[in-house]
Formats: sequence, structure tokens, C-alpha cells
Amino acid sequence: MADDPNILDTVISWLEKEKRQGRRRIRLSAGAQRVFAETKPSAGAARSAPAPGGTPGGSGRDAHAPVGTARSPDRPTATPSYRHTATPVPAPAPALQHETRNAQHATVSDIPSDLSMLDLAAYTLETLPAAVAACKRCRLHALGRTRTVFSDGSPTARLMFIGEGPGADEDAQGVPFVGAAGQLLTRMIEAMRLKRGEVYIANIVKCRPPGNRTPLEDEGGACLPYVQRQVELVKPEVIVVLGATPFLHLLGQKGIMAGRGKWYDYRGIPVMATYHPAFLLRMSGKKAEAWADLQQVMKKLGIQ
Ligand code: SF4
Repeated sequence: MADDPNILDTVISWLEKEKRQGRRRIRLSAGAQRVFAETKPSAGAARSAPAPGGTPGGSGRDAHAPVGTARSPDRPTATPSYRHTATPVPAPAPALQHETRNAQHATVSDIPSDLSMLDLAAYTLETLPAAVAACKRCRLHALGRTRTVFSDGSPTARLMFIGEGPGADEDAQGVPFVGAAGQLLTRMIEAMRLKRGEVYIANIVKCRPPGNRTPLEDEGGACLPYVQRQVELVKPEVIVVLGATPFLHLLGQKGIMAGRGKWYDYRGIPVMATYHPAFLLRMSGKKAEAWADLQQVMKKLGIQ
């Protein structure tokens, strides 16, 4: 990590806030523990430190500093539904807490301030986009996103595709998979004898990571409850995860190269893992494998 002259102020301010909120234990990476073992800052120094970004002269946070206290989106008072209203919607599984999921990867400056659980059971496909648009659960909300990117396609789709996150085109238009990779996905869908508007498309993270980088593990974990709720509401018969990021976050699996082409289970829904279209644009020799994966999906859906 590059040197940051404000990092101590940032850490101290964050720790003080956590302490005020009653938190007494902080899980640290091995590297952070070594730094703390070598350095014993005085309590007085900590208490005199200004809050990061809280004074006009403070240079504030860098891109990885803890973000401001996130808030839970307002709960809607009514719950309109799309279909299958007679079928009870199961409550979403609790979101994984950042400190547990990413303990070995987190550094002090990477830990977001919102470690709360997220209950989305009352949200529908009509109300959830507004909650996502107001979301500050991870640092991606403050790293240059133009808008959140929620979904595309049919809310009653039999088939759902889950990708990684918005790129530049998606960030500009607010629609997932509209750039070059998205155009390839559209052709893949049409090769399956479906129309793009007949399937449902979403991503693991709803905000564009800067430079189109892969979402960090804690960013994916923070955003996961939204796509989990989307799955609950759409109730697809089959899900296709596109690439390593949804393979990891939705299924808890690593190694998409070895793991693709197989069926997995997500809460009773069969899930096929295959390559991300952006990867296929770079590695066109892998398209045949991806097509074989999609043919399995067609068979599962009874598409001749
Ligand atoms: S990526 Fe997801 S969790 Fe992070 S700020 Fe955007 S909507 Fe919230």
C-alpha cells in the first residue's frame, strides 16, 4: 500500500467512532497486527488527532479510507409484488459481515464503516432500485460512479444472468451489459433462442469500480444482499453466473476455469457457471466452452 500521510488520523478517527458505538473488538490482518506490535502510539496522540476530512484544512480520505456512516435504506410501507404472489418469499439470508468474510484480506484502511446486517425482505423489484441508489455500504459509492446499475430484462424471467459489475458504458447508461461484453452476452442469449428482454440480468456490485477493476472482496460482500434479494423476487428457474466474481460471491466458489460447465445449487435454484463475456472477448478460443455451458442451460430449461 502506498504511503498516506493521513492514514493515522483516518484510522484513529474510525476506531474512536467504533468505540463510541460500543464496539470492543476489531479483527486485523496479519500485516496490520505486525505494524501494531512494532508501534505503540500514545493514547494522547490519538485523542488529539483531527477527524479525517472533518476540518477545512484536512486533506481527508484517500480512495480506500473508511466511508461515512452508512444508513439503512428507508423501509417501504407497501410491498407490491410482481408474480407468484401466493408463494411466500423466504426471508433473505443474513448478509455476511465484512469482518468475518474478509478477515485475512482486510487492512485497517480498507474496513468500511458499515458492518451492519442488511434486511431487504420488505423490498420489491420496484422499490429496491431506489434503496440501491442511496446505498453507501461500501467505498464504491464514492469512487466516481455516475449512477447505480440495477438490472435489465424481465422480472418474471425463467433465466437470470449474474455478472460482476458495471463498466464505463453501463455506468453511463445505468443498464448492465451494454458495452462490448454486453453485446456479446446479447448474442449468446439470442443463440440460446431467447430474446434479451426475456431474461433477467444483474451484477454482484451495483457501482462501477474505478478503472473497471475487479470488485474487492469486501465490496462484493457488501453488495451481495441486493442481488440475493433480486433472485428471491425474480425466482428464476436457472441462474448463470458469468465469471469469477459471481462464482465467488453467490456460490462461495473459487476457480472459474476449473469450475465452469458444472451445475451448482443456490437455495434450490440450479446454477451454471461459465466465463464472463469480457473474458471471451479476450480469449475467443474459449467461446466453444461457454457455448457448451449454455447448451446445458437450454437443456435444463427445455429449449430445443
Ligand atoms: S457497490 Fe453495492 S454496496 Fe457498494 S455502494 Fe454501490 S450499491 Fe452499495
